[in-house]
Amino acid sequence: MLNNNSMKHTAGLKRAGELKTRIQEYLDIEKTIKTGFRMKERNRINKERILKYFQAKESDWNNWGWQMKHRISDVNTLKALLPLSRAEIEEIQQVSQEFRWAISPYYLSLIDPDNYRNSAIYKQAVPDIKELDDDSGYEDPMDEADTSPAPTITRRYPDRLIINVTNQCGMYCRHCQRRRNFEQKDTHASMANLVLALDYIRNNIEIRDVLITGGDALMLSNSVLDWLLSELDNMEHVEIKRLGTRTLVTLPQRITPELCSVLSRHEPLYINTQFNSPLEVTPEAKKACDRLVKAGVVLGNQAVLLKGINDNAHVMKKLNQELLKIRIRPYYIFHAKQVKGTAHFMPSFESGLNIMENLRGYTSGLAIPTYIINAPHGYGKTPLLPNYIVSLDEKELNIRTWENRIISCENVPGSEEELFVAK
Ligand SMILES: *Cc1c(COP(=O)(O)O)cnc(C)c1O
Repeated sequence: MLNNNSMKHTAGLKRAGELKTRIQEYLDIEKTIKTGFRMKERNRINKERILKYFQAKESDWNNWGWQMKHRISDVNTLKALLPLSRAEIEEIQQVSQEFRWAISPYYLSLIDPDNYRNSAIYKQAVPDIKELDDDSGYEDPMDEADTSPAPTITRRYPDRLIINVTNQCGMYCRHCQRRRNFEQKDTHASMANLVLALDYIRNNIEIRDVLITGGDALMLSNSVLDWLLSELDNMEHVEIKRLGTRTLVTLPQRITPELCSVLSRHEPLYINTQFNSPLEVTPEAKKACDRLVKAGVVLGNQAVLLKGINDNAHVMKKLNQELLKIRIRPYYIFHAKQVKGTAHFMPSFESGLNIMENLRGYTSGLAIPTYIINAPHGYGKTPLLPNYIVSLDEKELNIRTWENRIISCENVPGSEEELFVAK
């Protein structure tokens, strides 16, 4: 007996040794990946510099109204805060004439001024001349304009839909799929249109999931959000509500106790956000998440796979692990869409599939989102997965495991059992 146990123990040790070698490459590289927590001190120094420039105080910084009002959207301010070259200044000016941009002081403080050109933060926030050179892509690759049965609504699935409540955001991401809506100013949907959207939902009882997005859903005031969510709460067929917001990333100061007190009254409520880089997972973002979780909100992340920002297996693994630490569950990785002006962000499908191959088995299932391509022309989200099914017939299934072992599993005939309550 003792002998048998000790033999088992030896096998377990051997297997554990094998597993250690499977993670070694990641452990070596992981140490070099910059995160918002690791860069805390440098970001603090950036913050002091930005506050000094605006002659503002710490309490201003923590106020989202101040952050919005002091969004950096002209090159003269930007060049005072980052050591831009002459050519870069001219290029940013050129793009500014076509497309808006705006960066919250907080998000700017995450950029390393000594190496800004390669920063995943800079690339998402600051206009690039390549936005104007892009002859490929579409203004509206999802044909969203054609799938709107009522004002502000996009409906593309049987049981759920989107309400677009505003074109406003804390930041105008350079890779935005709705760049066509940047226009020249921020506009919320009119109350009259929101009422029509609510009427549509009220009259279509198969809608059980309503997504409020934009723009950014949290650009609405607390009182409008409270009203909108209450109207949805009053519809029996609406089972869950979701908010689409990137404020956790670009403007975490928006998550105030007052907002959380409103949100806590409308469960079940989900927030989906968009962290794309481990650099974005900061102590400030954590504080915002802590408040939302205490308010009963369930948090998910929809990353966008972007060339030069996160199209790497190690970086994406680190991002998803950092997100779990602040209680955000990775939900989707979206393959970037063919939006005109964003070709320089377009990743390869191989990079996305390689990321998925290097997540499954290697890290917690909780850290593994679904990799999605949006079929062109709005035909729907479609999952992309490395192949794990080698063959399937009525006798057996052959699978490929995460370590590339091919293993056979016996198949059985389909079940006819009654799953439904008898009438
Ligand atoms: C993405 C999307 C949804 C939500 O899809 P899920 O897969 O349920 O997250 C709903 N409506 C539209 C139009 C969408 O684009």
